[in-house]
Amino acid sequence: MPIIIWGSRGITSDLDHGDFHCPSCDCREEFTLKHTRPFFTFFFIPIFPIGGGDRYVECRGCRGTYKEEVLRYEPPTEGQRILGQLYEELRTGTSLQVMQGKMINQLSMDPDKAWGILEQMCEGKPRECSCGQRYHPDVRKCSRCGADL
Ligand SMILES: [Zn+2]
Ligand SMILES: [Zn+2]
Repeated sequence: MPIIIWGSRGITSDLDHGDFHCPSCDCREEFTLKHTRPFFTFFFIPIFPIGGGDRYVECRGCRGTYKEEVLRYEPPTEGQRILGQLYEELRTGTSLQVMQGKMINQLSMDPDKAWGILEQMCEGKPRECSCGQRYHPDVRKCSRCGADL
């Protein structure tokens, strides 16, 4: 009686390639979109695919693998990065007035526009100190006069 050997094995094929923003390299890199499918094997030869398999993206720089959605990821623009930093400063105790000055000087922003953004960052409810400085609602102490808010 002949011995019949069957089993399965994953076969990986390259579906596509291009460049993307790799989250771990934090820069643009080449990627390969790969597809691994389990194949039915007969005497170790893959005969036909079984099941859908997995698609994933591999970075050629770091060899990291990601879900396909990574291809739609865009890194923050310079402006978004700066606004993120400003928000952090505002939340950690810098007054709206000081922040407004920075935005006017560093981003050449219009004073009213800068103020509008700052108020939005405070969800429209900035805290006001008796000395007149305004703060993000999370801030508990005035950095100018030291009063509790
Ligand atoms: Zn990478
Ligand atoms: Zn104050």
